[in-house]
Amino acid sequence: MRRALVAGNWKMHGSLAESGRLVDELVALRAGAGGAEVIVCPPFVYLSEIARRAGGAAIGLGAQDVCAEESGAHTGEVSAAMLADVGCSYVIVGHSERRSLYGEDDALVARKFVAAQRHGLVPILCVGESLAERESGAMPAVVTRQVDVVLQVAGVAAFAGAVVAYEPVWAIGTGRTASAGQAQEVHALIRGRIAASDATIAASLRILYGGSVKAANAAELFAMPDVDGGLVGGASLQAGEFATICAAAGP
Ligand code: PEP
Repeated sequence: MRRALVAGNWKMHGSLAESGRLVDELVALRAGAGGAEVIVCPPFVYLSEIARRAGGAAIGLGAQDVCAEESGAHTGEVSAAMLADVGCSYVIVGHSERRSLYGEDDALVARKFVAAQRHGLVPILCVGESLAERESGAMPAVVTRQVDVVLQVAGVAAFAGAVVAYEPVWAIGTGRTASAGQAQEVHALIRGRIAASDATIAASLRILYGGSVKAANAAELFAMPDVDGGLVGGASLQAGEFATICAAAGP
């Protein structure tokens, strides 16, 4: 039995005061008190404050990115050890915005995945195809390649302590959600890929769907057998909307 996970990706939005208010509202709404595990991923600079405010309220903490290197002369970067130090349990790696806007390739994403686990963080590995890739029929090859590189670098055992998020690029921040059937098809593909190496690890792997998840479509998506929760961007910035999504992921 896989416990659902809902992760709010706050991206580069809000101020310290607004972020504080948002997490206070989530605590008041008892967003993390249902059946699903709930985490929020604020910008790096707000992590400590959000950890302090969410403490004890069953709302976990994740970061939006991590440096692949351990420490040292990497101006502007944040290490996995630092994220663990301020209370993170999770970190998103390979978000499509990192891949497309900041040139992160599969090999770098795999190194970030490994760096996160070295410090006890659970990586949320994002994969997903662009609209052009979907329309040309390349979706299976793209998603398989993105998973396979991490499998080769980290090994299948590493997936026992990881989460995968399927995020079709054409659905992120566009208001265009994959249908439940489309999501299920890709989630089954990902699970099958892991199962080819280790069926037990595949069966316990949590695979989240991300891409314009809202209160109105969450229940239908989460009802799919291989959809184990969501990675939520825009809708995670509204406490009531996000709390409803979290409730939809509960048992
Ligand atoms: C995301 O940021 O990963 C995301 C899925 O965004 P949105 O929910 O806004 O599409």
